[in-house]
Order: sequence, then structure tokens, then C-alpha cells
Amino acid sequence: VSAYDGSRVAVFGLGGSGLATARALAAGGADVLAFDDKAEKVAAAVEDGLATGDLRGADFGEFAALVLAPGVPLTHPKPHWSVELAHGAGIPVIGDIELFDNERRARIAGLRLAAITGTNGKSTTTALLGHLLSAMGEAAQVGGNIGRPVLDLDPVAGTAVVECSSYQIDLAPSLAPDVGALLNLSPDHIDRHGTFEHYADVKTRLVAASGQAVIGVDDPTSARIAETLAAGGKPVHRVGVFDHKSELQRLAPSGVGAIGTSLYVVRNGATREVASLEGIPSLRGRHNAENAAAAMAMAMALGFAPEEAARHLATFPGLAHRMEEVGRDGAVIFVNDSKATNAVSSAQALAAFDRIHWIVGGVAKEGGVESLTSFAPKIAAAYLIGQSTELFERQLRHHVPTVRCRTLETALDVAARAAKSDGGVVLLSPASASFDQFRSFEHRGDVFRDLVRARLSKETA
Ligand code: ADP
Repeated sequence: VSAYDGSRVAVFGLGGSGLATARALAAGGADVLAFDDKAEKVAAAVEDGLATGDLRGADFGEFAALVLAPGVPLTHPKPHWSVELAHGAGIPVIGDIELFDNERRARIAGLRLAAITGTNGKSTTTALLGHLLSAMGEAAQVGGNIGRPVLDLDPVAGTAVVECSSYQIDLAPSLAPDVGALLNLSPDHIDRHGTFEHYADVKTRLVAASGQAVIGVDDPTSARIAETLAAGGKPVHRVGVFDHKSELQRLAPSGVGAIGTSLYVVRNGATREVASLEGIPSLRGRHNAENAAAAMAMAMALGFAPEEAARHLATFPGLAHRMEEVGRDGAVIFVNDSKATNAVSSAQALAAFDRIHWIVGGVAKEGGVESLTSFAPKIAAAYLIGQSTELFERQLRHHVPTVRCRTLETALDVAARAAKSDGGVVLLSPASASFDQFRSFEHRGDVFRDLVRARLSKETA
């Protein structure tokens, strides 16, 4: 039975996870009132057999809780009035992760929760841990911010590997994972949380409430959090990427570190090499070494031998649109990094390759690609697409050859021909939003993948 059996619960936001939440609550005996200010979302809920109604003007005193769907405030500020009303009526405002913790985990024996947060690398680390656990025979299910909504996961024993945004943690006051990871903290997203301190505090709560914590020590804020929690007696496994073996000592008494493409486990004063990421296309780059180390540390915390987990790194398929290899033509590799919507993300990809034929542009972010000119020695040419063409041309032309292409199709064509002569990499890493020419970064990446495949199949035909 559910804690909300017989109670009236308001659910705001009826996207995929909002619907899953409303269904789970209704299945647990709650009297659900589902609301969204978009008519087609309400229609979907009605089709699902849910009771819908208008929360505007509702008396919040009659509800036991207000459940906000993840992502709602990220896309529009509208639910704030409902949050104010709920606070005014003195009822809790929670999210689906809170319900997962209370309603599922409290009731299913042998269901463990491994939760992952951080500024960057959450999805990759979550997917990789899910992959490693499944490959070792564990009943692992991946969900949360990535993949299935948590309340759509099968209610069975095993390990739920859940990506948590800071927003979801904020709405889950009693969240207490078995193993929680804080990958890194940098001052992104602070618009949603007011200050960096508050953003850091929210993410810290996840690891502070975990049975065991996995914490990245590559940035000073998370490194300090690791120290504080360890000093308070929390079992902490540290994760880092270093240049020299001597620095692995920073991970003591327990952790996983990367040096180049080698992964090392530090445990009880001993250091041993457990894996190599050499030649694993889905885990290229320094940032992925950090993500791989974090996933390995989490597997270790969950009781798996690192050597055993390491055997399955090479079969990780990787995530779409994140340095995704979408084709090969002789020595030339085609890489879709459409998820890189800002310069910081594109820097990871530019760092990971050489002889780069770089397709870049779209709706520029603040600063454009100014910060990326330091990669000039690795860039064969920049093929400019989208609205930012003139701006990026001005920023890049004194550092690398630039070619105005306007469309992705033209850029691929010109870049692919040029790459044939030097055996380089054709890299779509736009450092820009996609909305001038595409519906989303996913759409942009899908178009690129299709164009590459069509081109390669024509060439071999
Ligand atoms: P998130 O889910 O946190 O947005 P992803 O795993 O989807 O992260 O990766 C998105 C992008 O962020 C990647 O394409 C890469 O550019 C960058 N990135 C991934 N992992 C890291 C990391 N550990 N540190 C810094 N940047 C990273």
C-alpha cells in the first residue's frame, strides 16, 4: 500500500514522468487530480484513465501533497503559483524521485538505489553503470532524468540506476540512495537555484544522504565536499583524472582514478591498474575517463569486483549525440557530438581528437567559440553552419581555415572530401543551440547520422 492511499494528491505537469507518477499514485489508491496547462497533455492523461482537473483556483488545503513533474520549471515558470499555493496550505511539494523512494523502495525487498548527480557527465555515467551491472548479471534498470521515469521502472528487486538533476533532488527531501555519486560541480544552471552555494548544497545532500558516496575530486568544490563527508565518517570513494601516478594517493583510502587511458583502483593503501580505455570509442576523452572511473567506483561500492566490472567497459555502446561514432570511411571517422551546445562541451570533443574537420555553428551562446581557438593546432578546418556563421568566422579565421557552408548537408559534403586527404575526423560539435535549423540537438544529430550513413552506403555501392 501507498502512503497516499485514500489521500487526494495534485500532480502538475503531464509529460512522460508526470503521467507515470499520476498512474503510480492512482494504482496505490490515491485520489489523483492531474493537471497541465497544455490541452493535449491533459488529453493524454484522460486517455490513460486519470482524473484531470484545473489546479488554478483549487483549494490546496484538500490535497495531501503537490507532485511536480521533473523538468516543469525548467521549461516554463508557470508552476510557481501552484508551489506558492501549496506552501500556503502547508502541504509538501515533492517529485517522482521522492515517491520512488517512499513508495517503491520502502516496499520492495532487495531493490537498491544508485543515484548520480553532478554538473556534467550524469547521463554517460548512469548509462555506463547500468551497462556494467547488467553485463555482470545484476537486474539493473536505468531511469530518472535519462531513460524511463523512475515510477515506470519495474517494481522488482535489483539495482535502480537513477540520474538525478538538482531540481529532482530538491523535490526529494527523504531521498537516501544506497550509493550516491556527485561527479563534479561547476557554476552552470545557477539561474535555477539562485546561487552556486545553493546549487552545490542541493547536490551535496544526495551524497550526504547516501549509504556510500562516490565523489569526484577534480574540481575544488566537490573535493572539499568529499573531505567534509569523510571527516564525518561517511564511506567515501573518490574519483579523479590525473597526470601523474603519484596523485592517485589523493584517492586514499578508496577510489578509482584515471591516468591517460588507464584506470586504477586505490584501496586500503594499495594501488592497482584494473582497466584500459584504449581503443574504446564510446569512452574517448578525459571527461569520459572521469565518467568511467565514477561508474567503476559505484560498481565497487555496490559490491562488485572492479576487475570483473572492467571486463565490460569495451562493450559500452555509448550515448547518442555525445561523441557518437556514426561511421567510418577508411581512416576517416565521423563523429556526432550534437549534444555539445556550448563551447565548454565542444572543448571535450576537440581535446579528444586530432586532424579535426570541425562542423560548428547554430545559435551562438555567450562568448561564441572564442575560448576554443587554443585547439587550433588540432583543427584542419572549421565548416560553418547556421546563424552564427559570420560571428564564428570572425572569431576563428585568424586561427584556422574557415569555410562558409550554411547547411549541415553542405558542411558534411565539403568536410568529408577534405578529410579523405588527411585521414582525419569529421566532427559535428556545434558549440551552439540548434533552433535556427533544427527542432532540437537530437534532431540535428539524427540528421547528421542519416546524412553520414547515406553518404557511406553510396560510396560502398
Ligand atoms: P549530463 O547528463 O550531465 O548533461 P552527459 O553525460 O549527457 O552529461 O554529457 C554531456 C556532455 O557534457 C558531453 O558531450 C561532454 O561534452 C560533457 N561531459 C560529459 N562528461 C563530462 C565530465 N565528466 N566532465 C566535464 N564534461 C563532461
